[in-house]
Amino acid sequence: MKKNFQKKTKIVIFTGYSCNNNCRFCINSNKREFVEKTTEEIIREIYLAKKKKANIIEIIGGESTIRPDYTQLVSVAKKIGIKEVLSATNGRIFSDFSAAKKIIDSGINGLIFSVHGHNSKTHDYLTRSKGSFNELIKGIENLKKLGFRSINGNTTVVKQNMRFLPRIAELYAKYKIRNVEYIFVDPTYGGAYDDFKKLVPKISKASVYMRKAIDIGLDNGYDQWKVRYVPLCYFKGYEKHISEINERILFFTEHWAPDFKNTDALASRQIISRKKTNRCKGCSRYNACEGIWTEYIKRYGDSELKPE
Ligand code: SF4
Repeated sequence: MKKNFQKKTKIVIFTGYSCNNNCRFCINSNKREFVEKTTEEIIREIYLAKKKKANIIEIIGGESTIRPDYTQLVSVAKKIGIKEVLSATNGRIFSDFSAAKKIIDSGINGLIFSVHGHNSKTHDYLTRSKGSFNELIKGIENLKKLGFRSINGNTTVVKQNMRFLPRIAELYAKYKIRNVEYIFVDPTYGGAYDDFKKLVPKISKASVYMRKAIDIGLDNGYDQWKVRYVPLCYFKGYEKHISEINERILFFTEHWAPDFKNTDALASRQIISRKKTNRCKGCSRYNACEGIWTEYIKRYGDSELKPE
């Protein structure tokens, strides 16, 4: 790494929690009725982020793209000189070609599509929204037609889709998606907390498919596909593909939500939500590893962790 390397400041602005999907595992499933931030509040936050020298603003929900003011928010961030403006999305709005064009014209730099199944059956089951997979795929195709290349992907790994991760990986490869994250579901709050046993897989099982998905990326020439929120003992040889390790090197991350403000999202995740146990003592990966979700240890115990 270059000597004068500087971490980037990334500020994630949550616009609210409204969404046109209703994912079974959603961490915000109990917050759907919260009042959305107003346009003025968000614009004020965008200016504040600029003042804090943010290199990247991520505008997310819920589903921020369904807000009538979404393109206005992106335009404001671009106009005041935010280098990268990104959004994570369920992708459905982009099935409408003119809406997709309007969003691209607003200056958005990158979109992260959430793909939870390789077909309608699995994806729509998890999103509890009929037609959501077909709209997402149409959305990707519309963006391709518009010449927009910065499409990324993320997949929340749960019991119902883990076996299909290689098929989802093939789908990402088909659409030439260079940056993908396979995210081990967060059961700290929300849907996966409420329905833990039904949704949260054992890491010893899920990791097999997560590694296969990374391998499919490598076979197709994509070396930026990653896994997130995993204990390192299941990813020996995949260290370059661990999101947490990369983001600690690259970013300072703040989260500004309607109901909380977290000025060091990475540190607080390590302190509050993730856990290493006594079993981990002496493990050669101890310092690099964030362990596994604290809630996972409470429900499934730590017997799967494998110190080396
Ligand atoms: S044993 Fe513990 S510290 Fe070692 S890699 Fe696994 S979770 Fe991380």
